[in-house]
Amino acid sequence: MADGGSTGRADGTDGADGADKRDPASGGDGAIHRGHQALFIGGKWVPAAGDGTIEVVDPATEQVIGSVPAGTALDVDTAVRAARAALPGWAATPPADRAAVLAAARDLLAARREEVAATVSAELGAPPAFAAAVHADLPTAVLASYAEMAASHPFEERVGNSRVLQEPVGVVGAITPWNYPLHQIVAKVAPALAAGCTVVLKPAEDTPLVAQLFADVLAAAGLPAGVFNLVTGLGPVAGQALAEHPGVDLVSFTGSTAVGRQIGATAGAAVKRVALELGGKSANVILPGADLARAVNVGLANVFANSGQTCSAWTRMLVDAERYDEAVAIAAAATAKYVPGDRLGPVVNAKQRDRVRGYIRRGQEEGARVVAGGPDAPEGMESGYYVRPTVFADVQPDMAIAQEEIFGPVVVMIRYQDEEDALRIANGTVYGLAGAVWGADEESAVAFARRMDTGQVDINGGRFNPLAPFGGYKQSGVGRELGAHGLAEYLQTKSLQF
Ligand code: NAD
Repeated sequence: MADGGSTGRADGTDGADGADKRDPASGGDGAIHRGHQALFIGGKWVPAAGDGTIEVVDPATEQVIGSVPAGTALDVDTAVRAARAALPGWAATPPADRAAVLAAARDLLAARREEVAATVSAELGAPPAFAAAVHADLPTAVLASYAEMAASHPFEERVGNSRVLQEPVGVVGAITPWNYPLHQIVAKVAPALAAGCTVVLKPAEDTPLVAQLFADVLAAAGLPAGVFNLVTGLGPVAGQALAEHPGVDLVSFTGSTAVGRQIGATAGAAVKRVALELGGKSANVILPGADLARAVNVGLANVFANSGQTCSAWTRMLVDAERYDEAVAIAAAATAKYVPGDRLGPVVNAKQRDRVRGYIRRGQEEGARVVAGGPDAPEGMESGYYVRPTVFADVQPDMAIAQEEIFGPVVVMIRYQDEEDALRIANGTVYGLAGAVWGADEESAVAFARRMDTGQVDINGGRFNPLAPFGGYKQSGVGRELGAHGLAEYLQTKSLQF
């Protein structure tokens, strides 16, 4: 991986301004951002109130690659005050000017593509090509979409004798996970800024470096002081303080269902807006007549990308009884191509590795058959949080491995008898984030997709669309991100009658 072999540790920034320290050995554009020893509040890098730090570890080498401050409730309070102070000015800024800042941020982020990719590669463990093509390029595309939308969105409309105004919700508390660290930040911050909101971000403790890089990008793009603030810190400390802060008008959270439930309850008690992007256990439904080899191969690629750490991954593969054995054979053979340390990166940390391996053992105990992979460490990998890409056959829909989100490179293959059976299995979890349907033709696949209780369905290998609304049915979440629907989350409406 890019820079993955480097174990040098940043000595931090010199005081409050947080100059960028890079590893001189890593060289050129692909240098890793190693961490400001400061929080970004009110347009400046400032020291944290306490002296706690969070070490950032490269999951491929288990070496510390940088560190950031562990912000506290006091820091969150300072940041929320800065965001509140900046709110009237930013909300009143003409949308075209907000769009210009977002467009400048897009250009600056694109110019730092190699650094973004190297940083995400180092703190998440993503293979370099995937880090560049997805972790760096997707946020750039989303920023571009909101730069355009800020300029063109009808923030006012006539409805009969009324003028309906769409106004910013206010101060946004954004709490993000580590699996797509920059994408999940941009999917909240870009629409919030386009809407005229101000933001306090608490990124995941495993991947704070790219969040700091993004704060530098926004500052360089000319975003006024206090409009975006960054407090790194632990979830139950800084995250909880942000979710509970009375100065926050909307909490937008992506992460586990357990924490999401808690944040939803806190927001509900305060009658505060909340958006939740939670887990998934999405179904890849291969209908009779579909191109089986393609559906299986694309399905595996979908799960193994990002080491299985994708909330929308199609982790349940549903195949009709007649072609089930053939599908299992294709999957077992194809999984051999995902070599850990090469095409397949590590998972994010030791806890996640142990959790995923625990689920693989549990699947065996439940009576499912491992046809590729298994719970042991991959051969020859002495360090790094690697898991063998694993495929289970003979999986019953009620097994834990078919119901619970594993968040690792594990696919479960379930046999169905007919389309009604497939639908019952596909809809038979508490989740409903995404899915795929493969049919003999588009029409039959769409007919099936219409009956799925889920927020996004890819038809016969349809491509990800950063403008399409993304979000969950059932316990996969509340609200939508991306595109116009994502912008709407950060707006509230006022009607003036004439
Ligand atoms: P998490 O929910 O614990 O963490 C997500 C974010 O919430 C982080 O920034 C964390 O610091 C913060 N947080 C944690 N506790 C908090 C609290 N009490 N109050 C406020 N904020 C808090 O998720 P995780 O530990 O990173 O991962 C655990 C599981 O969550 C994964 O195994 C996976 O199943 C799921 N997950 C889902 C997604 C998704 O996109 N849907 C992303 C990451 C993780």
